[in-house]
Parts: sequence; C-alpha cells; structure tokens
Amino acid sequence: MLYGGRKIGSFDMWSIVSERVKDLFEAEQFTGARFYPAELVYSQRNKQFKFEESYYVMAVVGRAEIDFAAMGVKCSICPKCGHYVFEGKFPLGVREKKGIYPTIMKEDTWDGSDLFGHNNCTERFVVKILSNKLSGFVFFTI
Ligand SMILES: [Zn+2]
Repeated sequence: MLYGGRKIGSFDMWSIVSERVKDLFEAEQFTGARFYPAELVYSQRNKQFKFEESYYVMAVVGRAEIDFAAMGVKCSICPKCGHYVFEGKFPLGVREKKGIYPTIMKEDTWDGSDLFGHNNCTERFVVKILSNKLSGFVFFTI
C-alpha cells in the first residue's frame, strides 16, 4: 500500500487482509475498498489444509486518475502484448533507488475515498493502521 506514491510496474489493487483490517476499516467508516471472504489453504503431502483464521480480499474501488501528462510521462498500451508502456522521464526521481516515484493525481477525478487508484490512501488511513499496530502494510510518502 502506498501513501502518495506508487511502485513502478505495480498495479495490484487488491490484497489479502486479516479480519482485524476489515473490522478497523468498517469501524472507522473508511471508504474505497470492498471485502470478500478469502479461503487460504496450504498444502502438505499433497493434501490441502485451511487456515483457521478468517481472511479477506480487500479490493480497492476508490477512484483517482493519474495525471501522466503532468508527470511528463506518456502512457500507452502496447498493441502486441497489452502491457503498459511508459515513455518519458519520471520527474523528481529522488527515490529512484527504492523504485518509488511521486504520483500526480488529477484532483478533480478523486472520488474522495480513503483508498483509491493504484494503492493510494489518505493520511487518516495510514494513522489508523499504524496506531492499531496492524502489520503487513508499508507506507511511502512523497
Ligand atoms: Zn509489448
């Protein structure tokens, strides 16, 4: 999960989360994600075993468009393989080593959700996740 940025090439917009994450999300009335029950299994000697704990797929549904033009990047889709193609140099590449680049969103396209776009979130979401000591999240700020 990224706060104010994204990883290049990472367009995953769903995660597997524990029931604690879902409960906090609902208790705090966060917006921008939907939860679906996930059944996690592991395999041992060709047999599958279910995890006892409840897990969920957290799918980000909040919207905000990336302003590629403002970032000096031309984004297109390769007609041969269907992958994203980025042309141009990403600005402010000071965190290049970590592979983290600032994302400029089109503010008027943000639907106001706490989770939105490609793994972006509001500061309130970050604060609550951290103060509740939920693990497995990594937040970046630019
Ligand atoms: Zn291609």
